[in-house]
Amino acid sequence: MQTHSEQTRQLDHTIGFVPTMGFLHEGHLSLIHDARKRADEVVVSIFVNPTQFGPGEDLEAYPRDLPRDIELIRQEGADIVFTPKPEELYPKNFQTFVELEKLPAHLCGISRPTHFRGVATVVTKLFNIVKPHVAVFGQKDFQQLAVIRRMVQDLNFDIEIIGAPTVREPDGLAMSSRNTYLTNEQRVSGLSLYQSLQKVQELLKNGIKNTEELIKAASELIQSYPETQIDYVSICDPDTLEDLPIIDRPALMALAVKVGKTRLIDNMILNP
Ligand code: AMP
Repeated sequence: MQTHSEQTRQLDHTIGFVPTMGFLHEGHLSLIHDARKRADEVVVSIFVNPTQFGPGEDLEAYPRDLPRDIELIRQEGADIVFTPKPEELYPKNFQTFVELEKLPAHLCGISRPTHFRGVATVVTKLFNIVKPHVAVFGQKDFQQLAVIRRMVQDLNFDIEIIGAPTVREPDGLAMSSRNTYLTNEQRVSGLSLYQSLQKVQELLKNGIKNTEELIKAASELIQSYPETQIDYVSICDPDTLEDLPIIDRPALMALAVKVGKTRLIDNMILNP
């Protein structure tokens, strides 16, 4: 992969990169579509990264279907699918990690304390292997995008980072490879995430700016659905991810909810 990317660069062709964990859906394909417009060659990686999963999480159960993924990537017009094996990216005696100091102390980082260290490390490795000029990430994983942007700036990666909008099912459920875990009833409960975002947007429009009040309304809506267990509902500064008491400027509303055993996330920017 490195040799190929080096040759591509020597030809003065640009490389666009979309890192994924596979089991692709329309959300992933929208990122590939975006990368296609921005670069001469598009590389998609598929790697279920063990270092971003904590103990007891779904590393082994994570859905995989490589032949289907490759066909979808072909149809979307990408050029290369990079599928390293765990033992290739993490050989024996691997011991170097990339860690951010502040951003992982919020939102998903609280219940997943080693997650963003795994993400930052694997993305650094993939950047060094794929050598992209531009890389596209989804805003659905808002904190991940913030971590990557910060890391790229802090460590002087010469790569343009693009954030692409969240792709949703017609009923509003944010697309996710993990949606496949949901039963029909759980899928209905999963709609509570987007509904609570919409509800808060509506309350804000009616002049309610106190975040405690807004979070309470969102939480009550989510808890009214069966099998939901809130990890967090947060209204925070989109740059620092620190909680905001009042919405007097654009704010990030982000939430994580377990539906049965499946952890779902969603977010939205709220404008006062
Ligand atoms: P994953 O395979 O879940 O690690 O996701 C790979 C990339 O796809 C990440 O940049 C995600 O943010 C992005 N992504 C996942 N779901 C969506 C979605 N529903 N809409 C847009 N991008 C998404």
